[in-house]
Amino acid sequence: MGLKFALRMSVKHIQVFSDSQLIVNQVNRAYETKDEVLKKYLEKVQSLISLFDDFSLTHVPREENQVADQLTKRGFPDFHQHQTFEKPSYECSEIQSSDQTPCWIDRIINYLKNVIHPSNQQEAKKLRLECAKYVLISDELYRRSYAKPHTKCLRPGEAQEVMKVIHQGEYGTHARGRSLVIRILRQGFFWPNIHKDAQTFVEKCPQCQYYADMQRQPVVCGGFVVWGLDILRPMSAAIWSYKWVLVAVDYFTK
Ligand SMILES: [Zn+2]
Repeated sequence: MGLKFALRMSVKHIQVFSDSQLIVNQVNRAYETKDEVLKKYLEKVQSLISLFDDFSLTHVPREENQVADQLTKRGFPDFHQHQTFEKPSYECSEIQSSDQTPCWIDRIINYLKNVIHPSNQQEAKKLRLECAKYVLISDELYRRSYAKPHTKCLRPGEAQEVMKVIHQGEYGTHARGRSLVIRILRQGFFWPNIHKDAQTFVEKCPQCQYYADMQRQPVVCGGFVVWGLDILRPMSAAIWSYKWVLVAVDYFTK
């Protein structure tokens, strides 16, 4: 799983450390793998390793693996990625999307795989320039980024799902406009009409529209419809020697 993420981030040279002596020796072919299931995992790992320019796997005893342990505990939010497999990873040749309706992604993939060659020279040049922004990694399309990790290209159905989770999901804050787009890009996703689609999505979000209508209603009454003042008694050890706390509440509606 970690190797897949590294490939998606366009890592070419990687040094892997593991505290499992068994796995290290099996991958490095020091031990023979007899178990049929483990053989399948090993095959999968070897095919992923072949995609790196440079790969090494070293055994680190558990007690010496404290740096990695600390990193996982402390965490770097931007690099946290989780993936759930519905079946053993050796059975997933690639993580396929259920949404396979032909879309902009296929046109670029077909060009990168040399399936299409526009006969019109101008069209061919345009397509070549457009496709230069993308790269195929394990048959999945990513938009190149030189300063940051590549972003995964999404089909329209997948884009809707991602917007739903980021905008309305459990940790969604109903972000809109540029803020919503930045969140989507930060999560590592991309599609060409991202700004327009994000705006349309927010316009259709029932909660956003409900509160937008409320905000458009004129405020009928001014301030001080109801107000209250609480005085808290002298504080013994308040900051900067302040003794009294006054809490004023001003209600705009009754
Ligand atoms: Zn919303």
